[in-house]
Amino acid sequence: MNSNSTTAANSKGSAPFETPDYQKILEEVYEEVKPHIGKGKVADYIPELAKVDPNQFAMSLMTLDGQSYGVGEEQKRFSIQSISKVFTFTMALKMYSKELYKRVGVEPSGSPFNSLVQLEYEHGKPRNPFINAGAIVVTDSLITHYKDEFITLENILGFIRDISQTPDINLNPYVAKSEMEHGYRNRALADLIKSFDNLDNDPTSVVETYFKHCAVEMSTKELARSMLFLANKGTDPLTGKEFVTPTQAKRINAVMLTCGHYDASGEFAFHVGLPGKSGVGGGIVAVVPGKMGICVWSPALNKYGNSYAGTLALELFTKKTGLSIF
Ligand code: GLU
Repeated sequence: MNSNSTTAANSKGSAPFETPDYQKILEEVYEEVKPHIGKGKVADYIPELAKVDPNQFAMSLMTLDGQSYGVGEEQKRFSIQSISKVFTFTMALKMYSKELYKRVGVEPSGSPFNSLVQLEYEHGKPRNPFINAGAIVVTDSLITHYKDEFITLENILGFIRDISQTPDINLNPYVAKSEMEHGYRNRALADLIKSFDNLDNDPTSVVETYFKHCAVEMSTKELARSMLFLANKGTDPLTGKEFVTPTQAKRINAVMLTCGHYDASGEFAFHVGLPGKSGVGGGIVAVVPGKMGICVWSPALNKYGNSYAGTLALELFTKKTGLSIF
């Protein structure tokens, strides 16, 4: 425990416990990770993302009482990409409850994020809501609920603004357009799912809405804040608003743990030991149940499409703090 630790009485009033100096720990992590920032490759299959400078880094955390700590460019917004799947899955689970699992499973895929092969032999039912195929089905379910793709997008943005308590969050239309122009695999996934009758709406409007929610931009500070409801059994600890039930929050965390990093999910659980979700923009969110939300960002990716320096930073953080669910 470092010298700047603060001491507090625990809830039973017995032996005091120490609150680690999270700011100092984040600074140590930043120093150790610096030589690795820029290692890997930025996502270049979306041309607009290929322009991003790989030598950037930020890490933030927010505890359940609203204390926030951070290092690097923690106010800088970046493309959240697949992190948005946590938000759309949360919305769909709230709307459809168990019915949702008839259309999308909760098993790890063991396949790359944009794989078509598994979907073919599993008759158009995606393994989980965090691979692209599953997220496309989830977006379709939202469009069915709101009856219109534009209203759906407005509601997704509204939800993200609400959980992050940040009213000016928006999407980058150039990133969405760039993906619309080059996202052949995702369009193929949507068409394949439609051919198995697991898509209600027009595949083009579904992928377009999917690309738009992937193109939302947020900072690590805003994303760490937006994970608090998942760290607190579905209720925002600062506003008291219940977004999902405790059981649903448990399910979302479980799917993040087992499926949040595509075919590197096992490795992430092994090295970091927290529910987490990555995006090809280089962001990773993580949840420490009962304690905090975390987000790290560094755009260069490892071969699985997860931030290289970001994964390392989270591993160092859990090692130094002992914060892991295991
Ligand atoms: N929009 C990206 C895609 O569908 C998201 C992938 C990701 O962030 O992992 O390819």
